Amino acid sequence: MVRLFHAALVAPLVGAIAVALGCDSEGDGEPAEAADRAVVGTRLGPRAEPVEAEPGAPGSEPHAGASAPEPPEDATTIVLRRPWPPTTLPLALLATMGAKDPASSRATLRDEDSGVIASYRPGDRIREGVEVLSIEDGLVELSNAGEVEYLSISEIPVELSANDVFYPDLVADLQLSGSMEDGTLLPPGPEYTIKSETYAWATPRTIALLRDAIHEYAKGRSMPTVHIGDISRRGGGPFAPHISHREGRDVDIAYVLHDRRKRFAVATAGILDEARTWALLQALLDTHAVTYVFVDYEVQRLLYEHALAEGMSPEQLEPLFQYPYGRRAAQGIIRHWKGHRDHFHVRFSAS
Ligand SMILES: [Zn+2]
Repeated sequence: MVRLFHAALVAPLVGAIAVALGCDSEGDGEPAEAADRAVVGTRLGPRAEPVEAEPGAPGSEPHAGASAPEPPEDATTIVLRRPWPPTTLPLALLATMGAKDPASSRATLRDEDSGVIASYRPGDRIREGVEVLSIEDGLVELSNAGEVEYLSISEIPVELSANDVFYPDLVADLQLSGSMEDGTLLPPGPEYTIKSETYAWATPRTIALLRDAIHEYAKGRSMPTVHIGDISRRGGGPFAPHISHREGRDVDIAYVLHDRRKRFAVATAGILDEARTWALLQALLDTHAVTYVFVDYEVQRLLYEHALAEGMSPEQLEPLFQYPYGRRAAQGIIRHWKGHRDHFHVRFSAS
C-alpha cells in the first residue's frame, strides 16, 4: 500500500526524470506503467506527450503530482533530480556542457519570444526575474520570480527560425543540417596552436583557407602564435555548447593580445592588440571566403577605431563592420554575437 501511495505522488517526478535522462524506469523496480502515467501533463519533450492512463489505475488523474501534497521524506529519495515543475517560460534548451567546476557549466538557450540564442552559466540572468541556478546534462534549474523550475533539453532538434539572433540574412547560411564529408584534422603549423584536436576537424577547404590566411598574416611580421579554438568534431555534427561548428566551416580564434602569455582572455582596451588582431582579421577577410566574423560589439569598436587610425576610410570599413550601426544591425561581415569577447568566430563560405 505504501508503494502505491508513493507511486501516485512521485510518479510525475520519476517520469519526468525518465524523460529528461532518456532512461527506462523498468530497471529500478518501478512498474513500467508508473512512468507512462508520470508523463501526463508534463511538457518535457516528445516522449512526454500526454498518455492515456488505464482507467482506474492508481495515480491516473492528470496532474496528479502538480497539486499533490509534499511526498513523505522517504519517497523523495527515490528521485535523484526532480525536473518538476517544468518551466512554462518560452525557452528552449539547445545544449548543455558540463565542467569539473559546476559554476563553469554552460547551457545554450533560445528565447522563443526574441529568438535570441545565448550561452549561460549558473548565476546568469536570462530575463527579468529569471536566473540560472544550476546546469546538468540536458537539464537547467531556473529561478523564476523566486520559484525553482526546470528546463529539459528538447529531443527534437531545434531548428533556427528566420527571427533568430536578429539576422535574417544569417539563417540561410547556417545550414545546420548535414554532416561533414571529407573532413580532416587541422594539421599542426608553426604559426598557430590548436586548443583541442578533438574539435579541430574541418573541411579541406576551410583548412586551406585558414592556413593560407594565417600564413599571410604572419609573413614578415613579429607575431605571437595564433590560438585556434573549436572548429568541428570528427565527422561534424552538433557539440555543446555551440549552435554552429557543425560543418567544419566555423573556426574560433583568440584575439591577439599584448600579453603573449595570455590566451583566450577578454579583449578590452589595453589588453587587445588591435594592430595585430586587425591584421589577422584582414588576412581572413582577404580570402573572400568569409561569410561572417562574430566579434563582440565593444571589440568591434576598438578594431574599427584602430582601422580608421591606420588610414582606412569609413566607406572602406562599411561593408566589413557592423559597428557603428548597432549590435543588432544586419550590416557588415563582422557582427556582434554574445559570447565573443575572448575569441572571434570565423564562418567560411561553403564554396
Ligand atoms: Zn564559435
